[in-house]
Amino acid sequence: MYVYSARQIRERLQLFQEAFSSPASTVCFAVKSNSSLAILRLLAQSGAGFDIVSGGELERVRRADKAALKRVVFSGAGKQVWEIDAALKAGILLFNVESEAELELLARRAEAAGVRARFALRVNPDVFADTHPYISTGLREHKFGIDIGLARAIYRKAAKSKWLEPAGVSVHIGSQIRTVDPFAAAVKRVADLVLELRRDGHSIHYLDAGGGLGIDYNDRLDRPHFDAAKKVRDYSAAVLRATAGLDAHLLLEPGRFVVAQAGALLTRVLFVKQNGAKTFVITDAAMNDLIRPALYQAHHEILPVVRRGKSQAVVDVVGPVCESGDFFARDREMQRSAPGDLLALLDAGAYGMAQSSNYNTRTRPAEVLVEGDKARLIRRRETLKDLLAGEIL
Ligand SMILES: *Cc1c(COP(=O)(O)O)cnc(C)c1O
Repeated sequence: MYVYSARQIRERLQLFQEAFSSPASTVCFAVKSNSSLAILRLLAQSGAGFDIVSGGELERVRRADKAALKRVVFSGAGKQVWEIDAALKAGILLFNVESEAELELLARRAEAAGVRARFALRVNPDVFADTHPYISTGLREHKFGIDIGLARAIYRKAAKSKWLEPAGVSVHIGSQIRTVDPFAAAVKRVADLVLELRRDGHSIHYLDAGGGLGIDYNDRLDRPHFDAAKKVRDYSAAVLRATAGLDAHLLLEPGRFVVAQAGALLTRVLFVKQNGAKTFVITDAAMNDLIRPALYQAHHEILPVVRRGKSQAVVDVVGPVCESGDFFARDREMQRSAPGDLLALLDAGAYGMAQSSNYNTRTRPAEVLVEGDKARLIRRRETLKDLLAGEIL
């Protein structure tokens, strides 16, 4: 079961909203990091906009809060016709366009719908960000965005279409980035481009700085605490310095930073097994529920829900899935576990449930949102019937 703290999600959003209150800005939560409807609604009601990457995510925002559709930006390198059509119809704020071919398609679909499409080019600033290679996106070798050197010519061409409205420039250099310097460098390049585009006669109003601010996955109650407020202050200072005097409306797209530390995955110990020198704690959760350790070699702190004495053991915490990559921790020193114990995998609120699957025909966990002293089920545990519902014999 995933458990989330409503208060922490609200607090993290507010940190961003306050740090970017002047000049005017919109914080567009990255839906892909946690797309549960109840969490999207909570964020929408706190004034968030949304960064979406699919027509499915657009539908989620609509269900969560229709009024938030006008605060949606649509990112992603492979938008399909139906997705573009749905977003045009919904009247979203901005399309973040990632190729010339996509821009041409957007113009055709806007013409068919009889509306003008506001767009930003997602430029690739060629900035290196030190993170896991799978979640680094800001180098020329990556599939994302358009080479920043080609942008002016594309805006010039696009401005000739009466169905396209050049309205912004966007950038997103990756995820789980721990220092602010790469953000500052990327946003500075984008700000310079905005000035050039304005000199070329385009009225560029939006600067979308993307998401990617990292958290500390080693954070624990018994160590000096991760200072989220300071992190956001440093980040906003760097972004605001790079955009000083630009008079642009900033868009921010944090995902992980808002929800990661607000969520934990609770799992029960099934067996404790000894193989040679190794001790394996086998849990009822697996890589299909939380894939980050297997996919990114990510670290999650694991705490026993009930603390019992001081007896420690060095163990691997693993799930039941038939892959050696199905582990949550390796050679980790923690409280000695017994079957039936509950463990909490911390900082699992982002890219946890959102990346879960039914691999090994496993039903996915329930989700619970804690508000003050109340806990509310926001997604029931999947049943075998749910799993088989779409299949045809
Ligand atoms: C994934 C993504 C984000 C969010 O990244 P986080 O690291 O979760 O903040 C923002 N914008 C775009 C375009 C993305 O692809």
